[in-house]
Amino acid sequence: MEQGNILEVKHLHKRFSSKGVTVKAVTDVSFNVKPGETIGIVGESGCGKTTLGRCIVHAYDASEGEVMYRTRAGEEVDFLKVDKKKRKEIRKEIQMIFQDPYSSLDPRMTVLDIIKEPLKANYPRMPKAEMDRRVKDMAQKVGLNPSYLMRYPHAFSGGQRQRIGIARALVVGPQIIVCDEAVSALDVSIQAQVINLLRDLQKDMNLTYLFISHDLSVVEHISDKVGVMYLGRLIEFSKTEDLFEKPLHPYTEALLSAVPVADPTVQMERIALEGEIPNPANTPSGCFFHTRCRYCTEKCRECAPDARELKPGHYVACHYAEELNLKGFSYEE
Ligand code: SF4
Repeated sequence: MEQGNILEVKHLHKRFSSKGVTVKAVTDVSFNVKPGETIGIVGESGCGKTTLGRCIVHAYDASEGEVMYRTRAGEEVDFLKVDKKKRKEIRKEIQMIFQDPYSSLDPRMTVLDIIKEPLKANYPRMPKAEMDRRVKDMAQKVGLNPSYLMRYPHAFSGGQRQRIGIARALVVGPQIIVCDEAVSALDVSIQAQVINLLRDLQKDMNLTYLFISHDLSVVEHISDKVGVMYLGRLIEFSKTEDLFEKPLHPYTEALLSAVPVADPTVQMERIALEGEIPNPANTPSGCFFHTRCRYCTEKCRECAPDARELKPGHYVACHYAEELNLKGFSYEE
């Protein structure tokens, strides 16, 4: 691994096969993450971003590729190739937060028991009093009143349930959190509170986030770097500001043009994306985006573009990225 990286995703593929049909959910995705960074992963629904997150936490077995991870003890491991015992150890350090906290919280368990569950699973010999102390500390950190811990999940609002989900993920002391649409189900005002909480926790606990979302405004707000996925491929990856100001891929340009801008003086030409995302069981020839790209040529239909580093840290997979001069956001006053 490169010095200074906590995570390196290398040529990751995930295919699902059923009844003779193979769906390519993730195709050849690579990117690096430094400790303390927040990486946003965006794209329309069905683009493979959730599958990518699940492969990284090893909830799914990837079909090919590596997820190199630097453990808290400084060891470099390929998380996809470790044995069962090691995987369990590493799972403590790489946790996931889900979109719908309600469905992931057992309605028959008290909140105390829900947050305690990962401690019991990972530290079976920890004394009960110590577990209870850790759960109470964690509840306080995420803004839950410890005197409510004996209640059941139905007694809590959506925002509070997401706080319970966050506490459960953090109680085992992870380094990396994969947040899968973690605020998408919440009202906008509650979204802001949960995002601020995630930021505070990041500073406080030295966390690294992989923030998966279809919502570009949320991702812009929270991420240091952003990766854009289309049909299972990472088609652009760069620092957030560069990607929003000067996108290099036509798909990113189209996504940005559809983001609502609060300032009425900012005029954005909305680029309509024609048609639906193609069926991942029957991907287009050449560039996967060619069926919806307004800059498509014969070359695009025939030949798939490789990801290239066009500017330092700015990767793009488009044959014409240098020439297109695409529109992004302007941050100037
Ligand atoms: Fe569009 Fe061609 Fe670039 Fe693909 S390679 S994004 S089809 S211009």
